[in-house]
Amino acid sequence: DTYLNPNYSFDNFIEGDCNRLARSAGFAVAQRPGLTSFNPLMMYGGVGLGKTHLVQAIGNYIMNHFENKLVLYVSSEKFTNQFINSIKNNTLQDFTDFYMKVDVLAIDDVQFLSGKEKTQDTFFHIFNHLHQLGKQIIMTSDRPPRELQGLQDRLLSRFKWGLTADLQTPDFETRIAIIQKKIQSEGISIDYDVIEYIAHSVNSNVRELEGVIVSLMAQASLTRREIDVELAKNTLRNIVMNVDKEVTIDTIQEVIADFFQVTIADLKSKSRKKEVVYPRQLAMFLAKEYTDLPLKSIGYHFGGRDHSTVIHSIQSINLLMDETPDVEETLQKLRSYFK
Ligand code: ADP
Ligand code: MG
Repeated sequence: DTYLNPNYSFDNFIEGDCNRLARSAGFAVAQRPGLTSFNPLMMYGGVGLGKTHLVQAIGNYIMNHFENKLVLYVSSEKFTNQFINSIKNNTLQDFTDFYMKVDVLAIDDVQFLSGKEKTQDTFFHIFNHLHQLGKQIIMTSDRPPRELQGLQDRLLSRFKWGLTADLQTPDFETRIAIIQKKIQSEGISIDYDVIEYIAHSVNSNVRELEGVIVSLMAQASLTRREIDVELAKNTLRNIVMNVDKEVTIDTIQEVIADFFQVTIADLKSKSRKKEVVYPRQLAMFLAKEYTDLPLKSIGYHFGGRDHSTVIHSIQSINLLMDETPDVEETLQKLRSYFK
């Protein structure tokens, strides 16, 4: 039993800026296990960002492409429990023999080994044995090695022998792609409006994103309703923290930046480029609408502009609204992210 879940693959792992390094290092390792300089490969990142998915994708890929390679995936918790049992049952030798004969060892969530000295000692020996033989070791952790308190220095220094790659919170485009992939795999279709709405409202991690889609499908089937923005709003209100939260100037800047694909620094900059000026003016307009901040303070949050600039921005948007119907539509869309 390799403990691998065949549902995790590279094919269904969406690549984005947030995970590109980890994914490509993982793929390199999967193609040439033990032969790259990425040994060990250490991938770290917060909960729900795809560590387990990626490490299992590597394992599955190797299983499917190298018939004679023995791949073992194990969580650090399970490793620890097996170790403790082997002590109890006087089978420590069997335990270490078992691990020392694998070709690929993937060990998930090594932060769990923290403070467990005896387990670490044994892991250290297994690690050295495998590494010396050129076997591939892959590890994940919820934080970078330097922050792994309670882990022995000799282990930590070995973790750094290979490559350390992080997984970050998915950016807006990656969230869109993940939602699309997920609903496609569920065999349903949802309007792009709704997808965009979800991607804007749920920005913590992929697991939460998946949870929202599952709830949404359940809601839709229970109420026999179509999945539209209204239903999404109702569903999200019950599960996601972002919804119904007080709208702050930071939230507004984040939403605007996401929406127009500019950076928050752009919004605060002196740039007079059209691609930046319009989003900035809209952001000030919405800041006036949603917050109680005085104009002076709004200006301050946009790179230290004064209150007359804020007034001018609001007027510009009002004027634009009279001229172009798109502006009102855009505003409606943006407002939907705040309620
Ligand atoms: P972690 O181990 O970092 O806590 P997981 O690997 O368990 O996170 O990921 C949580 C869920 O999100 C899983 O269902 C996984 O398939 C999915 N997931 C995470 N990242 C991606 C991605 N880049 N593309 C597709 N699905 C992803
Ligand atoms: Mg995990």
